[in-house]
Amino acid sequence: MPLLPRLLLSALLLTSLLATVKAVEPPSSLLIKNGYVMSMRAGEADRENTDVLIRGDTIAAIGKNLHAADARVIDATGKFVLPGFVDAHSHLWITTLRGQFRNRDGKFFPVSNRLGAVMKPDDIYTAMYTGAIEQLASGITTSSDFFDNIHGPAAGDAGYRALNDAGIRAIMFYGGPDKTLATPIDLTHLKQLMAKPHDRLLPGLAWRLPRDLHDEAAWTLRDREYAFARDNHLPLQVHVSGEADAMFNALIQRHYLAPFVTVVHATQATPAQLNALEKAGGSLALTPISEERVGYGLTRYDQFKGVTRQGLGLDGNALAGSANMFATLRLAALTQSGATQDETGPDPRRLLELATRRSADAAGLGRITGTIEVGKRADIQIINPDALNMSGFGGGDPASLIVYSAEPENVDTVVVDGRILKLSGQMQHTNITALVARANASARHLREDAAK
Ligand SMILES: [Zn+2]
Repeated sequence: MPLLPRLLLSALLLTSLLATVKAVEPPSSLLIKNGYVMSMRAGEADRENTDVLIRGDTIAAIGKNLHAADARVIDATGKFVLPGFVDAHSHLWITTLRGQFRNRDGKFFPVSNRLGAVMKPDDIYTAMYTGAIEQLASGITTSSDFFDNIHGPAAGDAGYRALNDAGIRAIMFYGGPDKTLATPIDLTHLKQLMAKPHDRLLPGLAWRLPRDLHDEAAWTLRDREYAFARDNHLPLQVHVSGEADAMFNALIQRHYLAPFVTVVHATQATPAQLNALEKAGGSLALTPISEERVGYGLTRYDQFKGVTRQGLGLDGNALAGSANMFATLRLAALTQSGATQDETGPDPRRLLELATRRSADAAGLGRITGTIEVGKRADIQIINPDALNMSGFGGGDPASLIVYSAEPENVDTVVVDGRILKLSGQMQHTNITALVARANASARHLREDAAK
């Protein structure tokens, strides 16, 4: 498209989008009535016909026949009330690269590097905002976003604003300008973002190992970044992929494993490596769909039993296909059943716990979110099984129903920090039609610009 019409179109789309993004209302009191509450607390049984009272951003009471005259009531009769999912690892900036990863001639890394390089701050905002809204709509209330496409402070600011505006709870792991070069992370700008008041949106470090593990100059650079995270109490995520075995060994030998460190994509990790991670108190993020898609191997979650702190993630909506934690849970279960030739292996409830409480613990957010529990923030999803794809459930195990049958469309209501972001199947603060148009326009011009 010629430049002028394109600018006009994006200006129009932006205007229509801004006109329809309503400010997220401050939380007030909410009473979720008569739901089937699956708290995801360890060892706690489900509770039928149970109410959840939310005061401000916090869960204030859980019980039967609660009353609160001032509270807005959400009727959850016949519905499942769960904590929101916690995405243990993602890259929301790739949301507008959807459909570009075509395996044969469209491998993920070269394609995302090429298209990522031409993204302007506005494109970053669009991608991350769209991705976060898609996650919220599908019941994901917390995202651990590995933001590794920061070409200058304006791009970093755009991503930060996108996550903030979307209303999702997130850790924004601040990274470098690209995935391959030994370019330093802009710690000065990260420090500026850290100085902003934050609560729902927390800073972290998207760390990378040197491309050449024998390059001591690159290690010196990476050492400085690691020390920055450690000294500032920031959570840090690091990929081990490609030369995964050597990378994991480097993390061990150089004493990088620590409670604030999450190792991502360790699909092929040896028992000794996992044992070292466990001993160091570090955590693990598994992303079965993306790991299998790019050929890292089968993500056998049964092989990671020895790691206490672990979570389940998407690795970006576009690489996972869409923001669908149900599909992620399903693949984790199916991979285990298939690989072990044993149908009885996967436990759906343990998988749901992995995507909620354990993901929150792995991200260091276990005291804030991940369960329905008095005193925790009100990050809640309500699943409505009154749909064809969930029909025919006459009792039994709701966890099995959710893992094997549910889809994002079945997520009826989403609450984050006590704020209603989705109600009766509708997102409350975003015009989805305008958002999709904006994301598509951005994706189109990224392809055009990358082809120049
Ligand atoms: Zn990743």
